[in-house]
Amino acid sequence: MLKEKDKIFPNIYGFHDRSLKGVMSRGVWVDTKAMISRGSDDIIKTIKDSGLRGRGGAGFPTGLKWSFMPKGTEKPKYLVINADESEPGTCKDREILRHEPHSLLEGCLLAGIAMGCSAAYIYIRGEYVREREQLEIAIAEAYEKGFIGKNACKSGISFDVYSHHGAGAYICGEETALLESLEGRKGMPRMKPPFPAGAGLYGCPTTVNNVESIAVVPTILKRGSNWFSSLGRKNNHGTKLFAISGHVNSPCVVEEEMSISLRDLIDKHCGGVTGGWNNLKAVIPGGASVPLIPKSVCDNALMDFDWLKEQSSGLGTAAVIVMDQSTDIIKAIWRLSKFYKHESCGQCTPCREGTGWMMRIMERLVKGDASVDEIDMLIEITKQVEGHTICALGDAAAWPIQGLIRHFRNEVEDRIMNYSTRKTVQAAE
Ligand code: SF4
Repeated sequence: MLKEKDKIFPNIYGFHDRSLKGVMSRGVWVDTKAMISRGSDDIIKTIKDSGLRGRGGAGFPTGLKWSFMPKGTEKPKYLVINADESEPGTCKDREILRHEPHSLLEGCLLAGIAMGCSAAYIYIRGEYVREREQLEIAIAEAYEKGFIGKNACKSGISFDVYSHHGAGAYICGEETALLESLEGRKGMPRMKPPFPAGAGLYGCPTTVNNVESIAVVPTILKRGSNWFSSLGRKNNHGTKLFAISGHVNSPCVVEEEMSISLRDLIDKHCGGVTGGWNNLKAVIPGGASVPLIPKSVCDNALMDFDWLKEQSSGLGTAAVIVMDQSTDIIKAIWRLSKFYKHESCGQCTPCREGTGWMMRIMERLVKGDASVDEIDMLIEITKQVEGHTICALGDAAAWPIQGLIRHFRNEVEDRIMNYSTRKTVQAAE
């Protein structure tokens, strides 16, 4: 288990003093000026050396992403924080927003200055009302103390932070749809290129980072890249907030070491699977969009980017959805198909049409009202959607179905057989 001294978020449950005095007693906003004075190159190098990979789902190296920001441009540069946490099962960033917002703000300042940004915009999902309130209190406190704003932390650099409340659309978690929404338009993903680092918010160079990715930055700079990279497996370093829900005795959000085994995560922090480990059926390990893994894979699963990718799944947002033997797995995946169909922005044909086709076939598979041939037809549709859309929502809609058929094809076929047998008996009666 992760030692207390290695936790980046000691107040993730809000049990400790949340006043600025309490926050500073835990090391936040302490020595910030000294960290700024290390300079842009040193800050970016430290984050690169730490091996930090983005915590929003894709796992792209954070320091490398920062280095894509152009130098010597006349245009202003922006840091945008993606706090539009909407992936089903995912609820880790909300704990940072409501209980550790100053870590995020200090991270914004350090990351922003390292990239030469003049401001950070924090885009919060519409449903996070209390979280926005806490964040805005923290922003006001930071301005009052001179930590941000003109001459931030007496560094001689001006840096502003704005919060922006979304209207509750899942697609605004896609970085370019988020930028569209921030600019006041409908949240529809943009074609790439240009990437945000070239032309992002208001046409200016922009880096979009997840809340957790930025909130861990101050601690990495304080404790050093070697400390961070000593945690987890090669290429999967650091600590991670996991959000575990579903059929466990005590669902929770917990900070743990990257690469912890799935079984330890569930047994030690959630009181185990309901009915015991052998009652486990499957787990969606990284938020609704990643393919599920069955119990046989869960037995040895390590919770990191590379291990789960090798199993044709993914760490995603590290939102672990646990399903025991009582789960109707076909219905569970149909529900996700319905979600993605509903959230498609409709801009590109494979996603707009494909999500509807997939949902409708899944709807019939829940009852078994289909032919076995349609299973392959469904897989073919997922392949036609995957990789052929403007943004990753198409992939997100396709992957859960692919995972279902990969691991539970027998169950799908059995249901079709049972349905057709029932129909034949009813017709004969
Ligand atoms: Fe919109 Fe779906 Fe296309 Fe993304 S993939 S741009 S959500 S239609």
